[in-house]
Amino acid sequence: MSDIAENNIRCGFVALVGAPNAGKSTLLNQLVGTKVSIVSPKVQTTRTRVLGICIAGQSQIAFIDTPGIFAPKRRLDRAMVAAAWGGASEADDVVLLVDASKGITRDTEEIITRLKDTQSKVILALNKVDQVKKPILLDLAAKLDAEGVFSDVFMISALKGNGVDDLLAFLAARAPEGPWHYPEDQISDLPDRMLAAEITREKVFLQLKQELPYRITVETENWEERKDGSVKIDQLLFVQKDGHKQIVLGKGGQQIKRIGAAARRELEEILDCKVHLFLFVKVRESWEDDPERYRHWGLDFNA
Ligand code: GDP
Ligand code: MG
Repeated sequence: MSDIAENNIRCGFVALVGAPNAGKSTLLNQLVGTKVSIVSPKVQTTRTRVLGICIAGQSQIAFIDTPGIFAPKRRLDRAMVAAAWGGASEADDVVLLVDASKGITRDTEEIITRLKDTQSKVILALNKVDQVKKPILLDLAAKLDAEGVFSDVFMISALKGNGVDDLLAFLAARAPEGPWHYPEDQISDLPDRMLAAEITREKVFLQLKQELPYRITVETENWEERKDGSVKIDQLLFVQKDGHKQIVLGKGGQQIKRIGAAARRELEEILDCKVHLFLFVKVRESWEDDPERYRHWGLDFNA
C-alpha cells in the first residue's frame, strides 16, 4: 500500500454555490476560521472565485466560494455567474446553500434545474437555521429532497457555526485520497494585495447606500513593507461618475475617511501589523467594460 492510502491522506475541492445572499462567504469564513471572503447584507458582494483552505484530520479541503448564481443582465453579472458555474465544474463535491429563511426562491429553483442537467449528486446545506422554526425547516428539507438531486442534507448556521463541523467532517471523509495541494498553513489563494482591496470593497458595501457599491471597484496600487514592520498600502477606488466621487468622498472627505478607517482596522488585525492605508478615488466611466479589470479578478470578459 502507498503511504497516502496507508495514512488516509485526502485532498478535495468543494464548491459552495447558491443564490446571492445564501451565506456562502459566511460559511467559507466560518470553515477557515478567519475572514478570507468578504460579506455584506447586500446581494452580489462576492465578485470572483475565492478559495478558502482548511484541514480536517488527514484531509485538506479547498472550498471554492463563488459569486451567487442569478439571472445575469450586465457584462459583469454574466462574468460572475460564469465564474460560479466554473467553480462548480472543477470541484469534487458541490454544496448548494439555501437560505432557509427565504424558502425556495426563483434563483434556487433555476440552480436546481441546472444541477439536474449535470447529473452529479449535490450536498444540500440549509443555512440560517438560527432564523427559522423547526417545522418550517423540516418542511423545506422535505420539499428540496423531493427534487432528487441531493445525496445528503445538512442544517447549518454559517453565522453561528451550528452544524458546520459536521458538514466539514462529512466532506473530509469523502475527499479523494491523495496528497495535499497546498502548504499546511495556506488558508486562501487570494494574494494579500487583493484581499486588502476586497476588505476596502466590503466597507464600501457596508457604508454606502443602495446601488452605488455595485458601481465601484477597488484595486491595490502599491504595497510597501517598511523597516519599522508597518505596511503602507495605496488603493484606487474606481467610480463611474463625478457625482459618485463626491458621495464617496463625502462632506470634507468624511465618508472616505470612515471607509478607510474601518478597512485599516481590519487589515491591521489580519496582517497583525500597523497599516497606513491611503485611498484615492478616480472617475473611470467605463471600468465595467474594461477587459483589464476582468483580468485582474480572473473573470472571463466574454462570458
Ligand atoms: P453570499 O452572497 O452567499 O456569499 O452571502 P454572505 O455570506 O455575504 O451573507 C449574506 C448575509 O447573510 C450577510 O448579512 C450574513 O451575515 C447573513 N448570513 C449568512 N449566514 C447566516 C446564518 O447562518 N444566519 C444568519 N442569521 N445570517 C446569516
Ligand atoms: Mg459571497
